[in-house]
Amino acid sequence: MQDSLAFAPRGKPLASLVDPFGRAITYLRVSVTDRCDFRCVYCMAENMTFLPKADLLSLEELDRLCSAFIARGVRKLRLTGGEPLVRRGIMTLVASLARHLSSGALDELTLTTNGSQLPKHAAELAALGVRRINVSLDTLDPDKFRAITRWGELSKVLDGIDAAQAAGLKVKINAVALKGVNEDEFPALLQWAHGRGMELTLIEVMPLGDVGEGRLDQYLPLSIARARLAERFTLEDVDYRSGGPARYVKVAETGGRLGFITPLTHNFCESCNRVRVTCTGTLYMCLGQEDAADLRTPLRASEGNDLLDAAIAEAISRKPKGHDFIIDRRHQRPALARHMSVTGG
Ligand code: SAM
Ligand code: SF4
Repeated sequence: MQDSLAFAPRGKPLASLVDPFGRAITYLRVSVTDRCDFRCVYCMAENMTFLPKADLLSLEELDRLCSAFIARGVRKLRLTGGEPLVRRGIMTLVASLARHLSSGALDELTLTTNGSQLPKHAAELAALGVRRINVSLDTLDPDKFRAITRWGELSKVLDGIDAAQAAGLKVKINAVALKGVNEDEFPALLQWAHGRGMELTLIEVMPLGDVGEGRLDQYLPLSIARARLAERFTLEDVDYRSGGPARYVKVAETGGRLGFITPLTHNFCESCNRVRVTCTGTLYMCLGQEDAADLRTPLRASEGNDLLDAAIAEAISRKPKGHDFIIDRRHQRPALARHMSVTGG
């Protein structure tokens, strides 16, 4: 039987985090910066106003915040952003959080990255105990890549993926499905990823933040992408779950796994085990809802964690049942004002 109590560093038992719908919160995603070296068309406007640096939690504060969640039963931590690897000093944070892997309190420390900084950091990430990472890559065409990311260079990301695999990191590729942009490339992406021993997951575009384009122009339901792939490949449903919202199939021809994240066509909230915290210490209990809790104030109010623990528990008691994204002709405006880069994907 699983222990329902998590233990604080001093041995004081803390109740684990269970929301009003009985879902245990065991997965924390932390956006360590809202900044990025890319400007992907579905994620950001080209001229973004970023948070003033003074509003950001320090690396020490981020560590304290993550550790408070780990003491309450969080077993998986994902660093994201913005681009997590452009946050100054990020490797110091990874090194410090890695102590929770050594102690056994954490099962997994991972990150989602655009890959551009992996040539610099992959070996150290692996040495610190990171085992798997997600790399976002929507196309293998350099011109299309530049058009989608506005500022990115495909060759740097491919170098980053090489560096990650050479360091022994397991890489999963995430691609956002964009109507009329990369939809013809899914078979090639699939063969490329599986040929290199990487999973591929396709993601439906979500209506987060004003990006200066109509969402209906971008949105491709994955039911359509899947049906088209099924004409060329044998897709077998599998029960495998990665701890995230993806549903998987096995591709008989390649032997690899293909995931679908379908926040619009299929709502996956019933099994949600995660919450998200931003680089300013704002906790979002659901990616698709506005309700949030300020954890920075209790974090800074005292050196001890009692106020912070109470604020976390109170916030989890407000976790909503789910989100309700819609993109159609009547709903082309953002469902939420905040961008994906704020909450972290
Ligand atoms: N910069 C890192 C990266 O791109 O992997 C981490 C942050 S990014 C916000 C995380 C993931 O969210 C990426 O896979 C990205 O493609 C995805 N994403 C961003 N905006 C999105 C949107 N509006 N709908 C769906 N996915 C989105
Ligand atoms: Fe940056 Fe990632 Fe957003 Fe692209 S998806 S702009 S890489 S944060």
